Amino acid sequence: MRTLLMMALAATPLVAVADEQIAMNVTPPPGDPLARAAALPTDPLQRIAYRAVVLKEWPDAPKWKLDAYQRVLDEGITSKNVARRTTYCPHCSGLRCADGSHVRSGICAASKNIPMHSIIWLASDGLLKVTDRGGAVRPHPKQGEAAHFDVWKRSCHGCSTGPGTLKRVPFAVIFLGRK
Ligand SMILES: [Zn+2]
Repeated sequence: MRTLLMMALAATPLVAVADEQIAMNVTPPPGDPLARAAALPTDPLQRIAYRAVVLKEWPDAPKWKLDAYQRVLDEGITSKNVARRTTYCPHCSGLRCADGSHVRSGICAASKNIPMHSIIWLASDGLLKVTDRGGAVRPHPKQGEAAHFDVWKRSCHGCSTGPGTLKRVPFAVIFLGRK
């Protein structure tokens, strides 16, 4: 009997190894899309930053964008606030920003509570630089919106009707510009 018990104890590590192998076999390989999706953060900004920095899905992205996403991960920045989003274009606005630079893709006008030259992330448009101001660009606190971003587009496709207007879009300030 004692010999059988000793054999059983000696066999235990083997059983544990076998269990580990089974566990490994049921885990999808790293390249599996379902496994990757399950491992991603739930916050949309954290998720996109993780894909950019850790998974390196966009190796050709400009350095300033990768730096911004790196900061999102380092500082644990999430998109817990929401903003009003509108659009403007050469047909309904001028060609110069309030900071003197020329209009271009990737810029926006922000409500005055967001400092000029801040880098922000807007769920609808991604990373944007604040280079402009506008009298009508103001937060709508009654709708829970902490800021307003007027995003520059090549064309608004019907400027006066405001088709680009979106309410309660998640956003975050990643680099705070100088006031
Ligand atoms: Zn327009």
